[in-house]
Amino acid sequence: MWTYQHTDFLVHQIPALNDNYIYLIQDCHSDAVCVVDPALASSVQTACETLGIKPTHIFNTHHHWDHTDGNQTLIEKYGVEVIANANDAARIPGISQPISPETSLKVGSLNIQTLDLPGHTLGHIAFVMDDALCCGDTLFGAGCGRVFEGSMAQMWDSLQKLYALKDNMKVYCAHEYTLLNLRFAKAVDKDNETLKKRISDDTRTRMKQQPTIPSTLGLEKQTNPFLRPFNPDFVHQYNQENSANMNAFAVFKDLRERKNTW
Ligand code: ZN
Ligand code: FE
Repeated sequence: MWTYQHTDFLVHQIPALNDNYIYLIQDCHSDAVCVVDPALASSVQTACETLGIKPTHIFNTHHHWDHTDGNQTLIEKYGVEVIANANDAARIPGISQPISPETSLKVGSLNIQTLDLPGHTLGHIAFVMDDALCCGDTLFGAGCGRVFEGSMAQMWDSLQKLYALKDNMKVYCAHEYTLLNLRFAKAVDKDNETLKKRISDDTRTRMKQQPTIPSTLGLEKQTNPFLRPFNPDFVHQYNQENSANMNAFAVFKDLRERKNTW
């Protein structure tokens, strides 16, 4: 488990299953402890016992089992409230506080803004607290989620919402996929010096069995191949290399399709 200090809360990062991360958002001014995407209840319980805290809420970014499987057990053991997208109420186990996908809410002293991010699934949302972004399976370190239910255009719009956030935003995504993603990034963005540095930094981090997550949105904007098309210079370079004349969205779509079979 790793802990990160923000101004008014702590984020505890718990590895679970093969490559999932569960996050505990611990409010510094109340007893509120929010579990983001409990893949596995036992991992949450062990972490809470170690920290001497009790979960009070669950935030689910989307309905996939590796983000919701812990819901029922945590409800039974701690009586937690489950906050998730009302439009996915039928697929999120134990939902007790259905919210509209883009709204603001308060839990303890935490001010939370949610973002509607269809693409990976139609009901995918993110939770933003100050400079912490819990974006589930929409944005990864140097990657983005597969487009399972939404359209490519929806995913592109969702990524655009994330791109609009400030550079110092910490990206707490739900999987440790960074090194694999960076290999693809390198193949499509060869001359990117920031990317080269990230590859050596993150490779070293993983050799020490440390997480590459959280990254920052600033770093993702510069090195994530699915955010790079927002930069016109990258679009120009990509078109030259591929003898094409694609707009930014078409470049994103091309990259996402290439990555699917890469
Ligand atoms: Zn998922
Ligand atoms: Fe997942």
